[in-house]
Amino acid sequence: MAQDARGEVYDLLAARGVSRRDFLKYCGSVAALLGLSEMYAPQIAAAVESGAKLKPVLWIAQGLCTGCTESMAQSRTPDVPTVVLDILSVNYWETVMASAGSDALKAITETVDKGGYILIVEGSIMNGANGNTLRVGGRPGREDVKEAAKNADAIIAVGSCAVDGGWVKAAPNPAGATGVSEYLASVGISKPIINLPTCPVNPEWIVAMIVDVLLVGKLPALDSKGRPTLIYGSTIHDNCPRRGHFENGEFVEKFGTVEEKKQFCLYKVGCKGPQTYTNCPYVRWNDRVSWCVESGSPCIGCGNFNWVDNDAPFLTRTSNVKLPGIGGVAPSTVGAVLGGAAAVALGVHAVVSGTQGRVGKGGPPETEKAYDRKKAAKGGDK
Ligand code: SF4
Ligand code: SF4
Repeated sequence: MAQDARGEVYDLLAARGVSRRDFLKYCGSVAALLGLSEMYAPQIAAAVESGAKLKPVLWIAQGLCTGCTESMAQSRTPDVPTVVLDILSVNYWETVMASAGSDALKAITETVDKGGYILIVEGSIMNGANGNTLRVGGRPGREDVKEAAKNADAIIAVGSCAVDGGWVKAAPNPAGATGVSEYLASVGISKPIINLPTCPVNPEWIVAMIVDVLLVGKLPALDSKGRPTLIYGSTIHDNCPRRGHFENGEFVEKFGTVEEKKQFCLYKVGCKGPQTYTNCPYVRWNDRVSWCVESGSPCIGCGNFNWVDNDAPFLTRTSNVKLPGIGGVAPSTVGAVLGGAAAVALGVHAVVSGTQGRVGKGGPPETEKAYDRKKAAKGGDK
């Protein structure tokens, strides 16, 4: 990138109160998120800077609550919208752009004609009433996604609504909502899509994916569901700071109790951490301030596919399945209820814990190890 253009980028950043040092620091944290050494920060900065010329972004909204846009727009330090809007040249983002109507829609056509852009889709595809459940510019909204997908270099579905329909698709799904991958496949467009589920999406993941596309020039490693393995490669349970309490059979049975104060494991009040794959415990939310379990709420599994139908009611235990060592049911039974790799991981973890003697071998340690209130009242076990 020419030096004067780079200067322009830093002028823009300065105007938003973001210093060059802050920007490089941020690029270092993006590097860590991408599994790279922080020494890659300068290359990442250069990739973002050159992205201003090379890769415009189209952000197209469908059936949604705008929570993902809010999540992105409310980031503060460094100002992520600065990075995305001012540096990466977003050509269309109807929720935040100043122009409206046919002039705004022209930006989609012009960008598609030139090609070489990144398409971000937020919200579920509304297929009800032959696509007319949602109309944009006089035609079914899903047509915008179809048109924009044709020439995109990369497609990113942000938030669970865009990934698989999210809460919009929850039964009885009157809008006929689906995710972007399913819709594009149904109209004969077969392209790899980066899926970033959770409700809403974590803005750091979006920036990391855009940077990855700019820096490496190709899609990151994806799992069989199109999720980047760097972000969705391990369960919340694997990285949870309350995991020790799980291992010890120390659970919150009810909110408002001493067990809750002690920050015991939230599994029995509905935590879906064992079957949810995201890096929320270490990337965290709201500029890395905190995340669900740390702030006292069970993970409600919003990073899971079909999470609303599968995981509700959210504040009750996943099912009647008892973990091996906590009731002695075989992992295959756990798998039958929870399904897929998550269940296998949970089962394997429990078996390993059992063989290592970290949880009880049979018997009901959940009740055996319920927190001893009498002991606490006498001042013991602080
Ligand atoms: S069940 Fe939830 S609160 Fe308990 S250790 Fe696992 S992720 Fe953490
Ligand atoms: S911790 Fe769970 S509920 Fe919270 S954002 Fe992450 S996946 Fe969603």
